[in-house]
Amino acid sequence: MRLRPRHVRTRLTLWYVAVLSAILALYLASTLVFLRVSQRRELDRSLHAEFERVEDLLAAFPDGSIRMGGHGEEAEGGSFLEVWSTEGSLLYRSEGLGAGGFPPRAGDRPLASAVLAGGTRIRVLSRPHRVGDRTVLVRLGLSEERQRREWSNLLLGLLFGLPVAIGIAGLGGHWLARRALGPLDRMAKHAERVTAENLGERLPVENPEDELGHLARVFNLSLARIEESFAQLRRFTADASHELRTPLTAIRTVGEVALQDPQNPDRYREAIGSMLEEVDRLSRLVGSLLVLSRADASPALHRQELRLIDLVKDSASLLEVLADEKGQRIDVHGDPALTAEVDGLILRQALINLLDNAIKHSPRGASVLIDVRGGAGDAIIEVADRGPGIPEVHRSRVFERFYRIDTARSRDEGGAGLGLAIALWAVQAHGGRIELQSEEGSGSTFRILLPRKAAAQPSSPAGKVS
Ligand code: ADP
Repeated sequence: MRLRPRHVRTRLTLWYVAVLSAILALYLASTLVFLRVSQRRELDRSLHAEFERVEDLLAAFPDGSIRMGGHGEEAEGGSFLEVWSTEGSLLYRSEGLGAGGFPPRAGDRPLASAVLAGGTRIRVLSRPHRVGDRTVLVRLGLSEERQRREWSNLLLGLLFGLPVAIGIAGLGGHWLARRALGPLDRMAKHAERVTAENLGERLPVENPEDELGHLARVFNLSLARIEESFAQLRRFTADASHELRTPLTAIRTVGEVALQDPQNPDRYREAIGSMLEEVDRLSRLVGSLLVLSRADASPALHRQELRLIDLVKDSASLLEVLADEKGQRIDVHGDPALTAEVDGLILRQALINLLDNAIKHSPRGASVLIDVRGGAGDAIIEVADRGPGIPEVHRSRVFERFYRIDTARSRDEGGAGLGLAIALWAVQAHGGRIELQSEEGSGSTFRILLPRKAAAQPSSPAGKVS
């Protein structure tokens, strides 16, 4: 099992302490090494200076012995001196060295470290020197003990001080982490209280400029989007229930009225006829709702390179009966070679809805014009009618679900205000858009603009209105 502290602040503190300890340890180690090196340098300098002083004081006496001359000074405290003849006999040894003298290996190199018999660590400088007419080997040692003591004291002080410093830094780090993460904690508690019932709540943004403020703002934006989606869903459910209830109430009323006159078969026939009409309207409505709920689930498109004019003619032939009923003509023009990568079934749904509206709203005997042409990278399909046009106030809203201009009339004509919403979804699913141009009294033109090549996933542009 991995030991992983639960709280971010604890993890942060531990990381902080670990990194700080590593840095401090490195820093202290290099300080100690540096001190050691400079102490050694200092000692070697003193050793050379002392050596020169001692060289000046060495004197040969008439009895052949060599001693410290001048005022008979001894080597200074903490320094040790030996003088050897070139034949290897000891000519002088300072008192502090005792009988053993320097350890034998101390003279291997001109400058060496050694340990005396008593355990004293020393630096030894060995050099030949002329005293009178004789050449002798002079060995001078200086005790390192004072420097070593200083160095050990410093090491001890640091070893004791380091954990204390790290402990204090750790506490400070923990306090800081707590303080820094406090707003996050408060935000999380606040966010926990947000449910479907109070989606209007927002997180407090203490400082919009810092990272936490940014997080709170992003979270609030997400909340706003969720709130909007919830509101849409509620509206959709309410509208759908309302639309479903109307034909159901009609069926029920017609049935009840017919039952009051059991002897009249004509009445029954009439009632059944209008009940079937309502059922027809109901199933169309349910069909549209199904399309929209599938649309909301963003189904994958099965794109194929298709000739758009074929698609348009196909849709027109499906609605020809309706146009014939009103003595209207559907005129299809355009580039017969223009192709686009589209899902034929879904795009046809959009075309049928636009064409159905155009037929519905055009007067008897009028023509509905469909034009297919290529634009800059786009394919354009225009459906133009000679209907009453769409007043400006409604133009931006006709693509909304359940939006109808003339509620009573539209319902009579079987529309629930979903046709354009479905058309818009179908076109947007292809990465395209719908533009609406309309002039009151002289008709409307719905223009579908489709990218001819399938691109990345579609964004969600709204229908453009002019
Ligand atoms: P419906 O399915 O009820 O026709 P739509 O979403 O297709 O609903 O249309 C929404 C509203 O836009 C309708 O109420 C209708 O009045 C209006 N509308 C749509 N197309 C046209 C058009 N070609 N001419 C005039 N009005 C239109």
